[in-house]
Amino acid sequence: MCGVLGIRAPKRDVARLAYFGLFALQHRGQESAGIAVSDHGRLTALRDMGLVTQVFSEDKLQGLHGEAAIAHCRYSTTGSVAWQNAQPLVQHGAARTVALGHNGNLLNTTELRAALADDGVKLRTTSDTEVIAALIAHDERPLEEAVAAAMRRLRGAYTIVLLAEGKLVGFRDPDGIRPLVIGLLGDDYVLASESCALDLLGAELVREVAPGELVVVDEDGLRAAQGVPAHEGGALCIFEFIYFGRPDSKLRGVELHGARVRMGERLAAEAPVEADMVVPIPDSGTPAAIGFARASGIPFNEGLIKNRYVGRTFIQPDQALREHGIKTKFNPLAEVSGKRVVVVDDSIVRGTTTRKIVAMLYEEGATEVHVRVSSPPIVSPCYYGIDMASEEELIAAGGSVEDVRRAIGATSLAYLSLEGLQSATRRPEETFCRACLTKRYPTPVPERLEKHRFEPAPAR
Ligand code: SF4
Repeated sequence: MCGVLGIRAPKRDVARLAYFGLFALQHRGQESAGIAVSDHGRLTALRDMGLVTQVFSEDKLQGLHGEAAIAHCRYSTTGSVAWQNAQPLVQHGAARTVALGHNGNLLNTTELRAALADDGVKLRTTSDTEVIAALIAHDERPLEEAVAAAMRRLRGAYTIVLLAEGKLVGFRDPDGIRPLVIGLLGDDYVLASESCALDLLGAELVREVAPGELVVVDEDGLRAAQGVPAHEGGALCIFEFIYFGRPDSKLRGVELHGARVRMGERLAAEAPVEADMVVPIPDSGTPAAIGFARASGIPFNEGLIKNRYVGRTFIQPDQALREHGIKTKFNPLAEVSGKRVVVVDDSIVRGTTTRKIVAMLYEEGATEVHVRVSSPPIVSPCYYGIDMASEEELIAAGGSVEDVRRAIGATSLAYLSLEGLQSATRRPEETFCRACLTKRYPTPVPERLEKHRFEPAPAR
């Protein structure tokens, strides 16, 4: 997961707008942040490790001006957490210089790296993003043709914002796995991963960029073309609805908060339990807990206080950081003492967080801890930009619900059914990727994808 944003607004302070837009997308990636601007076509980028507010200061923003900007916040899936992999990435090529921000994960990076190497192109980073930038920067055809040609060669998930030749370009893979929306700010266009960024900027949501579509914003306004034919219906990641997207964002015309409340309501109907209070795992489990409480009649109550200054545990890049993150993140309230508690969360990936929370609630005096999950078990890895890592790390892969219940130490455990999840989205199932829940991938996938496959082997 990453957040991307682009704006072309020659009469406005584009860097400042990109900064605030990126701030609204911070939940999509917390490892690095960056902004690139185009000033009469000349590209400048500033990127660094850390949160948006850590990377940018007033002085730094004042040094960035131009007619257009793109911005990116990163969560790594291919390539390590390192400065050289921070984005936007600037690539100088034989045909042009491009700045580019990517959300997704390519599946044919190895093959494309080899093809570029055969053409004499040297790559500097370990990320798949540089491959996309290099294909476009070295293609002598006009920009839009070069982008469309690159799209035809890419496999996997890519939502891209790009600056080149004074133009802002946005495009999505033919399945539209990661989101991208178009907004209008007066007469100026904004592209963003999620509509919550448009709200912050005061821009109006126009529509989503369609799967396989390519949009170009320049002095003539916005024009759109089909870069590659879309795969029928597309395959938007259903986890955008379950967890990734901010609850106030709208996708496919549906506000995500409402969809998550419906997931909780349906879960209460599918897996009822006798209990004294419904406790959310804040913040991602809160809408589903509201729905569960509403449908079950069991009072909703805060039972866990979250330290909001710790990043989202799931998004931290390695196990050591994850363990540390959980310990510093939640503290139970004495309210749970002597109570039968229903804990609602949106998903269980590795089970680390859930196990610790269940233990914490028992230590605080809860008499029963029933875990309810507002998505089905995750049984297969994601190849499209979500760091679920390998199947062995997924607690539900290969085991029964009872195995998971025992591993997390809960009194009972139930997941929302796939049908229940789908009906809560109010959108047809054939327009979603649900592969980590069903093992049916929308594209061919490799047998195994290693995050650090382009890193040098560690010294022995
Ligand atoms: S495999 Fe799962 S997380 Fe990955 S894109 Fe598909 S639905 Fe989303």
